[in-house]
Amino acid sequence: MNYKDYYALLGVPKNAAEKDIKSAYRKLARKWHPDANPDNPKEAEEKFKEISEAYEVLGDPEKRKKYDALGSDWQRAAQQAEQQRRYRNQRYTQDFSNVDFGTPGAGAGAGAGPTGFSDFFDMFFSGIGRRQTAQSTGFAQRGQDLETTIELTLRDVYDGGKKAVSLQIEDLCPRCHGTGTAGAHICTQCGGTGHVIVTKKFEVTIPRGIGDGQRIRLAGQGGAGSNGGPSGDLHLIVKLLDDSTYKRKGDDLYVDLPVPIYDLVLGGEVKVPTMGGQVAMTIPEGTQNNRLLRLSGKGMPKLKGGAAGDQYVRLIGQLPQTLSDKEKKLFKELATMRNGKK
Ligand SMILES: [Zn+2]
Repeated sequence: MNYKDYYALLGVPKNAAEKDIKSAYRKLARKWHPDANPDNPKEAEEKFKEISEAYEVLGDPEKRKKYDALGSDWQRAAQQAEQQRRYRNQRYTQDFSNVDFGTPGAGAGAGAGPTGFSDFFDMFFSGIGRRQTAQSTGFAQRGQDLETTIELTLRDVYDGGKKAVSLQIEDLCPRCHGTGTAGAHICTQCGGTGHVIVTKKFEVTIPRGIGDGQRIRLAGQGGAGSNGGPSGDLHLIVKLLDDSTYKRKGDDLYVDLPVPIYDLVLGGEVKVPTMGGQVAMTIPEGTQNNRLLRLSGKGMPKLKGGAAGDQYVRLIGQLPQTLSDKEKKLFKELATMRNGKK
């Protein structure tokens, strides 16, 4: 990223009055307007864009103040801002679809994403542009919708209900209140971006039966609005942690249950863990090893209500490892009996 000398681009001194900046811009804009330069349209377009960018910053008191504050510190500020941006990209995707950008400014590049200006502009001034546009036009602007992940256990989503969680979200910088400057200097807390990553506590109501990848919306807990606009929403994307006992498939649960082979051969009753507590299950006589038995309604609650899912129990026959002389004798008798019948 390169530093942009906006004063040099407009050919005005650093202490130029607002009206002189404006007239310098108008003169240059006329000169380099692509319509006025049919012979070298590429160069004209490039120049015109540079001039527009310079005026976008110097022609706006808030942006000019920040630009002046950047001064020789701009690289340090850029590093800090870049770190934040990288962190933010890892953690969030920002949804600008609901943001009202107000009236597009002259050459400001309306809409989400890149402004069409330089990286230098995008890093330090694009955020201010949106706020400024909203303030100067008087449009209420809804805050940004933010997205982050929330890790939940199977128990959390089975029980549902309220849970206190700490989540990292992006917020307006408390030191500079989003302006990026502190006095005549760049704000050191946010590196001039106007935003910081903060850890905030939330009480989240977890819907029973919510699944991996599904969303919980916290209305009004996203980015702050401006000009009386409402706050955005915070979307939590559920990351369901693996459970040591249960495997979840949709609303059904699967569990492995070791049982003595005698219960498989002769039938019997065993205790089975379920999310709702232990239950007794009857094993029919002559059950094959690894068979799945179904416990109806003992799975996960359904998000939309109605009957819960089922729990499937896989019976894993446990063979005796050491046999007494008497047991060995009895097994031999059994074997002889079986073979004799053939
Ligand atoms: Zn700040």
